[in-house]
Amino acid sequence: MESEDVINQEDDVYKTLLESTNAIPWKINWETKAFEYIGPQIEQLLGWSQDSWVSAQDWIDRIHMDERDQTAQYCINLCEKGTDHEADYRALTADGRYVWVRDVVHVIRKNDVTTELVGFMFDISERKALEEELQRANKKLEALSYLDGLTGVPNRRLYDQTLASEWARALRSGSSLSLIVIDIDHFKDYNDQCGHIQGDECLRQVAEALQSVAVRSTDFFARYGGEEFVLLLPDTAREAARDIAERCRRCILELALPHPASSTGPLLTISAGVASLEPQPGDDSTELFSTADRMLYQAKRNGRNRFACSWPIKTTDGETNQAAG
Ligand code: GH3
Ligand code: MG
Ligand code: MG
Repeated sequence: MESEDVINQEDDVYKTLLESTNAIPWKINWETKAFEYIGPQIEQLLGWSQDSWVSAQDWIDRIHMDERDQTAQYCINLCEKGTDHEADYRALTADGRYVWVRDVVHVIRKNDVTTELVGFMFDISERKALEEELQRANKKLEALSYLDGLTGVPNRRLYDQTLASEWARALRSGSSLSLIVIDIDHFKDYNDQCGHIQGDECLRQVAEALQSVAVRSTDFFARYGGEEFVLLLPDTAREAARDIAERCRRCILELALPHPASSTGPLLTISAGVASLEPQPGDDSTELFSTADRMLYQAKRNGRNRFACSWPIKTTDGETNQAAG
């Protein structure tokens, strides 16, 4: 057998191999930017005939507009430098759809000058669909991680983040930031008397009612933990915060949930502590919570079903920092 025939036969074998894989082989002459070859599989993947891939411009024109310039520039730069690389992009099909593909590019150089590119194009649409599904699931999980599982209201984690951003905002604008810390009275006794399941249901109803008290879009309500809730009130001065604390207290009374084991009264009640300040540089944001929490315990000591504020409130009988129904 003539040696040329052997080479031709070997070429045929390679060609058959190349054209029977899912990866679509191609070759571009870098000097002329002409396609010297593209596998027939391209027609099945994108619908464009083999003959329609004439120049590198045909490749560029069939990249989705959103990533066209970036992808083309990235590949051209690396081809000129002589660096092998990969690029993922959406390729246009002959019937106007897009398919996610990956090009794996091998740069051939002679005397430090790029002469040819050979590569493979892969269909990665399935992988991309899975990735997108995973991203959607992750976003959902992320959103869920900021919500309390029992009541569906924001949780402590979101409160911490919101406090940090509202604190910074109040510091910039010199505005007041108020916080109400709310705690259900005698809730341990409620659980003991009514059972944990009813205790959970009670927490849901209390959370729903308290959440409706905060009406401004910047007001932020969260379950802090256990039977404690917080209401962060940006741009809200003392008097308004005090009115809102009273609305909280009243809205729970209006729920009229019987509490068969409360020494405070026949219905479920809450106590609250209110703090309000204009953050100053150097202040610690946790001070807002600790002050409101101290006031909460004062309200508890003073008889529950009431709130206490971190500043004196003028009443007809003199000054007191607490208010009760
Ligand atoms: P006080 O009036 O002083 O606040 O008394 P309290 O009984 O409400 O306070 P304490 O801290 O002694 O008890 C809180 C109770 O809240 C105990 C705990 O079992 C209950 N609790 C906390 N989280 C949940 C929950 O998710 N579900 C239910 N059902 N109960 C909870
Ligand atoms: Mg508590
Ligand atoms: Mg309690």
